Amino acid sequence: MKRVIVIGGGAAGMMAAIAAADAGGRVCLLEKNEKLGKKLFITGKGRCNVTNAGNREVFFSNVMSNARFLYSSFHEFDNQAVMEFLEKAGCRLKVERGERVFPVTDHSSDIIAALAGQMQKRKIEVRLRTQVKEILFREGRTAGVLLTDGGHLDADSVVVATGGLSYGATGSTGDGYRFAREAGHSLTEPFPSLVPFNVSEGWCRELMGLSLKNISVSLFFEKKEIYSGLGEMLFTHFGVSGPLILSASSYYVQEYRRWKDGRKKKDSGQRAEDGKGQAYPESVLYIDLKPALSGEQLDRRILRDFEENKNRQFKNALGALFPIRLIPVMIELSGIHPDKKVNEITREERKRLAEITKKLPLRILGVRDFNEAVITKGGVAVREVNPSTMESKKRKGLYFAGEVLDLDALTGGFNLQIAWSTGYLAGKSAGMESENDGLLPTEKENENNGF
Ligand SMILES: Cc1cc2nc3c(=O)[nH]c(=O)nc-3n(C[C@H](O)[C@H](O)[C@H](O)COP(=O)(O)OP(=O)(O)OC[C@H]3O[C@@H](n4cnc5c(N)ncnc54)[C@H](O)[C@@H]3O)c2cc1C
Repeated sequence: MKRVIVIGGGAAGMMAAIAAADAGGRVCLLEKNEKLGKKLFITGKGRCNVTNAGNREVFFSNVMSNARFLYSSFHEFDNQAVMEFLEKAGCRLKVERGERVFPVTDHSSDIIAALAGQMQKRKIEVRLRTQVKEILFREGRTAGVLLTDGGHLDADSVVVATGGLSYGATGSTGDGYRFAREAGHSLTEPFPSLVPFNVSEGWCRELMGLSLKNISVSLFFEKKEIYSGLGEMLFTHFGVSGPLILSASSYYVQEYRRWKDGRKKKDSGQRAEDGKGQAYPESVLYIDLKPALSGEQLDRRILRDFEENKNRQFKNALGALFPIRLIPVMIELSGIHPDKKVNEITREERKRLAEITKKLPLRILGVRDFNEAVITKGGVAVREVNPSTMESKKRKGLYFAGEVLDLDALTGGFNLQIAWSTGYLAGKSAGMESENDGLLPTEKENENNGF
């Protein structure tokens, strides 16, 4: 029986442990927190958008980094397999708008309970409050782990499922990156992603809490359009957030990474910043407040509104066009005096109002930090991991799964699907006896480690 240690009791780790046990392994899962699935618990605002019911193409078109690396793992354990697994485990699911899948109870805790139940059923040993300090290697292959309390556990295979760096309070503090580096792996620099933007416009702060529905945004990075989308956004004390913005951030971070690499190369390896403070790429987010209307239709609509309010002051004529809190900002940006009589507004002024309604600019100053990021973009470089097994190409018996890898997707259940698919394949490969393993019994064979 292969002894498998899984580091991390998140989505990827729990699925890896289950798959390793099913493959015949004797499995021990180590989690540094006092409970399993702390991040899973907060997913989908506590409801856990566990996967997406769309087809294969939908999944791959929503994966932002290294989609091809996921071909085998998704084939092995796709979204249908996840849904079947959870339903069989007693957790009934429902599909909502955008093919998003949730537990019918709307409680993420039911997903965690289902996974914990399945681990128990397979007699997987779960050790909570147990933090791995180091992965041990003997003669080039994986031999076990050293714990922070000084103890050590022998193993034939170790699955690293320690997550990324986002929402560090849930336990994902980047330990897996260190383990990977110590094992000789390269890292793609981790960046916060699916994360709000800081913007330079002070008026955003005044609109804090205002949510705009059915608007569209387009994001320009160094004058090139890199994203456009329709949906909902939110103003905050630092800038903008909400579903559309989180999606836009994923494209922003991708471009930002290229931009930063380009600057590094230009500076021949010196700091990307010029020493005079943080350098930002020129990036602007344009909000179209009336995406359903063309420029001409909007102009006609404004004319009609003005006609109905022709004897009123401009500041009192915009109630039908914008949410009430947005009106002072639109007045300011239009350059039209708020007290001006509507019938005195010039054609040019009206044009300007229409222009900012269709293209309200916000200058992006970068993204918020890891504590506010739904995921980490970057991580263990996938070229050094075998996509058919999730095994390290550097060390025999070492496997990676989940967000610790340089894999990420847009919102909609796709990130958890990455964790399920890679977790399942890593666990299955780690637990399976293979003739080519060349496994030798290690010293006194796991004498005192209790599993
Ligand atoms: C607020 C929020 C909402 C989200 N909502 C969704 C959603 O609805 N749908 C979706 O698809 N995705 C969602 N995501 C993303 C999704 O949660 C992650 O992609 C996924 O949980 C990653 O799983 P993981 O197992 O790789 O890592 P994690 O869930 O981060 O698990 C890693 C585990 O490893 C443990 N660990 C770390 N280091 C050690 C160590 N040295 N020793 C022992 N244990 C260790 C940690 O304590 C942690 O429990 C959301 C993320 C956030 C932050």
